Formats: sequence, C-alpha cells, structure tokens
Amino acid sequence: MKICSKCNTDNADNALHCAVCGAKLDAVGTKRSAEEYVDAYFKKEAHKEGLERLISFLALGCFAAIYITLSVVLALRQSVSFSILLLIFILCVVGFVGAVFFPRAFFVLTHITQIDNIDDVELSDWYYISSKIGGYLILLLGIIFLLWYGAQI
Ligand SMILES: [Zn+2]
Repeated sequence: MKICSKCNTDNADNALHCAVCGAKLDAVGTKRSAEEYVDAYFKKEAHKEGLERLISFLALGCFAAIYITLSVVLALRQSVSFSILLLIFILCVVGFVGAVFFPRAFFVLTHITQIDNIDDVELSDWYYISSKIGGYLILLLGIIFLLWYGAQI
C-alpha cells in the first residue's frame, strides 16, 4: 500500500501517481497508518506495564528477605511467637499482591455490599495509583511492626 504524502490517499503498491491528486508516489508508506500508531502505543504501554511488574516483584522480594532476616534475628535473641510473625508476613504479602496486582478484585471485595452494579463501576486512575501506594505502605508497615516487636522483647 502506497500512501500519498500530499493527500493521504491509499494507492495500490504499483501505482506511480496518486489516484486522487495525481502527485508522484515515490516512497512507500511515507505516513504511518492509524493502526501503526495504535500498535506502537500499546507496545509502549505493555513495556511500561512489564517494568512496573518487575519493580513490584523486586519490592516483594526485598520485603520477604528483610522480614525473614529480622524474624530469624528475633528468634535467635529471644523466643518469639512465630505464628504472629508468620500471620503478619502473610497478611502483608496478600495485601500487597491484592492492592498492586489485582486492584479491581480488591475494590470489588471491599465494596460488593455497598454497590449493586459493581461490574459497571469504572475505577479512576487515582484509585489505581493510591491502591499501589497502599500496597507499598503495607510492606513498610510490616517491617515497622517487626522492628517495634523486636524492641518490645
Ligand atoms: Zn494524493
């Protein structure tokens, strides 16, 4: 497909002149089609999403490493309630994964009794952003709790 650079008309590949304005067609595809723009846009968005996911997994990995290390240190110092440490750890991980990876499911779970047509609700960008921030705060609170718990014993 040759696109006329003057009037943007699609012409056959073997056409020498534009069928509409008569301009000489020399270059093939001199203008990007709408589909190419859309493809490029979604490619960029997918790349961004992949990067965000990687950062989230790294944050979760760092949290797990810090939390487990602190738990072991606490266990070596004193006898600690491992069930409490494990419960907080699981709550933090579940809270983070829910808020960061499944914000919509999280919203549905927390509002299902208040909103009848919950499937039609469009969540705002602000909701998604605050949900992510909330997820990271949960991890931070987990570490703070552990430090506080360690200071008590
Ligand atoms: Zn033309």
